[in-house]
Amino acid sequence: MQKALVPALVVLLVVIFGFAAFFLSSGPTSAAAGEESPDDCAVEKYEMGLKWQQQSAEARALQAQTYDFATEQLDSAVADVGEGENPAIITDLDETVIDNSKLLARDLAECHDYSTWDTWGDWERNGEPTLIPGALEFFEHADELGVDIFYISDRTDENKAATLDTLKALELPQVTEESVKLLGPPKEERRAAVEADHTVLMQLGDTLHDFDGAFADAPLKKQRQLVEKNQDKFGTEWIMLPNPTYGDWSEADLEEWKAPLVTD
Ligand SMILES: [Mg+2]
Repeated sequence: MQKALVPALVVLLVVIFGFAAFFLSSGPTSAAAGEESPDDCAVEKYEMGLKWQQQSAEARALQAQTYDFATEQLDSAVADVGEGENPAIITDLDETVIDNSKLLARDLAECHDYSTWDTWGDWERNGEPTLIPGALEFFEHADELGVDIFYISDRTDENKAATLDTLKALELPQVTEESVKLLGPPKEERRAAVEADHTVLMQLGDTLHDFDGAFADAPLKKQRQLVEKNQDKFGTEWIMLPNPTYGDWSEADLEEWKAPLVTD
């Protein structure tokens, strides 16, 4: 009897230890890949940029200053428009004309990585973005000058009716099925369609591929070189709005001072 019990006890102990090891390794501090828990909130790294964009007075000052400057530039460009030309401006929407930071803040509070964009569709359909300071006045001014406005955005065509409603609710001018060109063809193609029968005086955006397709998918080093090469366009033809909440740069490594850390 005793000899028969030994192997049975060994098997029982292996099973008990096996279960114990499984439950210890699957506790709340070691969530499986892809799961989010309050102890493992990787998206927290976006908080500083999001706070700056949504809460800082500096962001509002910079946005309003940018639109004031764009207004002066547009007045000057319109004054130079030749006979028979059909002047237009092209603008991005998100973080250029409208502020989506409440969606990003909600996702961050729930430790959900908003840069996966899987909550964006619901926001397009049901969200209530607000206007970037200075944007409405600028586009109303362009409208009064007789400039055609095209809103070229990578919001989805599938939710176009909701986006049109959102833009109309914000009282932005010239919002029509034709003037709002959403994701389907790349931005470069949608810009070319406008340029085919317009003189584009100005483009506005918060990311560089809002201005030129050469920036799309280019590594950061190449983007920096292209910025240098096109320096004369910034502030005249290309108007850049600040956005520290998401972008191609977000996973870049920082350059560090190579000196040892010394405290006083
Ligand atoms: Mg944008």
